[in-house]
This record gives sequence, C-alpha cells and structure tokens, in this order.
Amino acid sequence: MDTRIGIGWDSHAFKTGVPLRIGGMTVDHPQGLAGHSDGDVLLHAITDALLGAVAAGDIGCFFPSGDPRWKDADSAIFLKLALEELEHAGYRIVNIDTTLVLAEPKIAPIAGEMRARVADLLGIEINQVSIKAKTPEGMGLDHVAQCHAVALVERSLDEEDLKSMSAVIESQRQLEDVVEDLLSQVHGVPKKRTVSPIFDTEDIT
Ligand SMILES: [Zn+2]
Repeated sequence: MDTRIGIGWDSHAFKTGVPLRIGGMTVDHPQGLAGHSDGDVLLHAITDALLGAVAAGDIGCFFPSGDPRWKDADSAIFLKLALEELEHAGYRIVNIDTTLVLAEPKIAPIAGEMRARVADLLGIEINQVSIKAKTPEGMGLDHVAQCHAVALVERSLDEEDLKSMSAVIESQRQLEDVVEDLLSQVHGVPKKRTVSPIFDTEDIT
C-alpha cells in the first residue's frame, strides 16, 4: 500500500464579539477566535495536514492573509481546496486524528457532532475522523486555542490516471479557477477574475 502522512498545527487567540467556529460548526461560547478568516483552528490544522501529506505547501500559500476574499471566510473553503490538491496528487484520506488544546469550552459533549461535520466536509466516514481535546495545563495559554492534526493518506489513482490529470492544475490561473469555484460553491460568492500571488508563506491566521 502506498501511503503518506501529513501533520498540521494551528493556534488562534480568543476574542470577544466574534462567533466561535471549530470544526465547521458554530459553538456556543462567549468568545470566538481571532483571525483573518473565521479562525477555525481545527479546520486550519487539518488543511495543513492534508497539504503536507502530498507536499503541496501550506494554507498560507493558497490563502494569503492580505487577500480580502478570505476576510471572515468560512474555513470549509480551505479544507475543500486541500482535498482537491490531495485528489489531484492521486491520494485519498485513510484517517484524520486531531487534538484540540483549549481551556474552554468543553469539547467532549460536542465531539460527535463535530466529527460528523468534518467527515461530511471531507466526504469520508465519521470513523475516519478523530477529535480529541485537552486543556493547556500549566502553560498559561488559557487565552489561546491550539490544534494538532495528523492525516494518513493512500494512493487512489495509478500512474496512467495521474498522467491524464496532471494538466489540471499547472498554472496559477487554473488554480485561481479552482479557488473561485470552491468559493462560489461554499459561499455563494460570484466568480471574480482577480489574480493574486499564491506563494506568500505568511499564515492566514
Ligand atoms: Zn488558523
């Protein structure tokens, strides 16, 4: 079996006045997570794990924080693009494991719903997604949410299939088209023809 592995990590500070988005869900809590996008620390870590598994860069390469299109963006967009990159590289997800590190809120009561949501976004089964949580004991980081993610992937396409797909994302313009498609699917935002630099390594957080 041809397998690869990817790791992702992310952190965001808690902030009042914004909704708390974790795992593609809005969680009932007095504070949300600060970020250029919706600050979904779990989806960002999984996105980087998937991109890392096929050595396709990181979330900041595709979604520069200076790009106004990603202001308050639903992080499901980032996850969907990572999934596209994974599929174009000829791989599919075996399983995802994650650990959230945050003082509040308690994740255990909503972990099942969150796993179902993430599995749905990734088009996999709930038993392929693990979401665990710990408190940042003794670290003095109660004002921050962190997430670690690992993705195991396996080859889904043989060499011939890959050759026929190799031209799909070759230019920045084509990548932009994919991003715009995802944006219009997830957000209902009309397509724009703006091209922005994609190789900015600054993190979107
Ligand atoms: Zn982030």
